[in-house]
Parts: sequence; structure tokens; C-alpha cells
Amino acid sequence: MLSFLGVKYSENLISKATVVIVIIMTKDIVCGGDVTEEGCDWTAEFNGKKYYFDVAGCQTSFEMNPGHYITHPHPNYK
Ligand SMILES: [Zn+2]
Repeated sequence: MLSFLGVKYSENLISKATVVIVIIMTKDIVCGGDVTEEGCDWTAEFNGKKYYFDVAGCQTSFEMNPGHYITHPHPNYK
């Protein structure tokens, strides 16, 4: 229980006020860097799968030769 200005707030009320932020992390297939899917500016689709990139240069590299990166993804890419 928390007490604020003499008012008792239950833990249930506190938890309802908690904003849950889900951040989906993925990997950049070109350089293996960490990418946050939400709000990612650099994406590409290939064979119905969406890929995310950390910088514009990685997106460009992928789009120029997607087959290479599909068959030879960065070791960090999962
Ligand atoms: Zn990258």
C-alpha cells in the first residue's frame, strides 16, 4: 500500500496506471546490428518476409542484392 496525501492507493490501482511498452527487437540481416521494429525507417520485403535495417545503407545493400543476404545472412542475424 502506498500513502499519498493521506489517500491510500492499492497496488491494483498503481498497476493499472503502468504503461506497458513492448519493444520488438530484431537483427539487421546485412550487418547483424540490433534493430527496433517499431518505428524503423528502413525496411524491405522479400518473398513475403519483412526485413529491418539499422541504417539506410544496409537497406540499400539488401535491396541491391537480396538473394545474397538471404543465402549469406550476417552471423548475428537470427
Ligand atoms: Zn545494418
